[in-house]
Amino acid sequence: MSTVKDLIGQAVDRLADDLESISHKIHGHPELAYQEVKAAGWLADFLGGQGFKVERGVAGVETAFRATIETGAGPTIAILCEYDALPTIGHACGHNVIATSGAGAGAALAAVRDKLPGGTVQVIGTPAEEGGGGKIRLINGGVFERVDAAMMIHGFDRWILHQDLLGITRAGFEFRGKAAHASADPWEGVNALDAVIQTFNNVSMLRQQMRTDARIHGIVTNGGAAPNIIPEVAACTFYVRAAKLDYMWELYRRVVACAEGAAKATGCTVTVIDMEAPYEPLKRNDTLLGLFKANMTSVGAIESRAPDRLGSSDIGNVSQVIPAIQPMVQIAPHGTPIHSREFEAAAVTALARQGMCQAAKTMAMTTYDLLADPGLVKRARAEFESMQ
Ligand SMILES: [Zn+2]
Ligand SMILES: [Zn+2]
Repeated sequence: MSTVKDLIGQAVDRLADDLESISHKIHGHPELAYQEVKAAGWLADFLGGQGFKVERGVAGVETAFRATIETGAGPTIAILCEYDALPTIGHACGHNVIATSGAGAGAALAAVRDKLPGGTVQVIGTPAEEGGGGKIRLINGGVFERVDAAMMIHGFDRWILHQDLLGITRAGFEFRGKAAHASADPWEGVNALDAVIQTFNNVSMLRQQMRTDARIHGIVTNGGAAPNIIPEVAACTFYVRAAKLDYMWELYRRVVACAEGAAKATGCTVTVIDMEAPYEPLKRNDTLLGLFKANMTSVGAIESRAPDRLGSSDIGNVSQVIPAIQPMVQIAPHGTPIHSREFEAAAVTALARQGMCQAAKTMAMTTYDLLADPGLVKRARAEFESMQ
């Protein structure tokens, strides 16, 4: 007799052609942040056809959606889809596969709906990951308030259960001084460019005391108008990244202090301009990862060692409000970097189809585990609360 997990696997195999065709359509019509009208529409239509109740434009975000099936009282588990593309290089981050893995997981759960324990399954369409922080708007709009745990996958060149994501916050500094002739009356001027240079020097000194998993990098965005004018306005922008949220904010405050000190030293004034909502670090959840790993192994995927390179994503923000995971799924040959033309081409190959199906099965089975044993949901929550 087949188990529910066997039936989930069979459902994904049955739907694989449909899922792959949506994946290829999304890939063939790359849409940028908040313009993913077609992708969101295709996914929402598909999920509606599988028996989900579909809400479009949730939290006031036109290209977000939420598809829900309820089977009684119990936990709410969300599976997240991304579907935005990159400027000029299309789906070089493989979000077409993220989208159809998530939709496929949801559809497989809908197919075994009669056998699901009590609870709610949501497939949530989250736009604008590559810039614009779609998930942050959904968090602020309350979309995750009643969700107990969330999961998504990301395409990669190998399977990795957990890869740290650095939190990132961005700050602009605009210094104001006083213009004067740089040769005739330099003593009449207050040099705003000096404040920018001093800020870089201060930050360079700060770097020596920084933890190794943090990054600070900046550029000068305005260095004055002409060498014979003491610059009255000058500006720079810094990105501050760290693997832990509190450390990211601590560093951010120290970078602001570097700019304020530079302003004081040079006699300028400084305005701090906060830019874009920060992407927060990914908070690890071993309870969810453990379930994912067991299911991933059962569908034939093998975990590789994580490379020591670090990026950022708005799934980090979700992981700071509820337990959430983002394992990496192989959809491209080993050694293919994301955001490359090669990765874009790989995202529609047989390997991408295989990764999509394995990921859909793994997420659906993991969701099933959580519905079947709400104690696991409680354990994931307790772990979430005990983690920094
Ligand atoms: Zn990307
Ligand atoms: Zn991506």
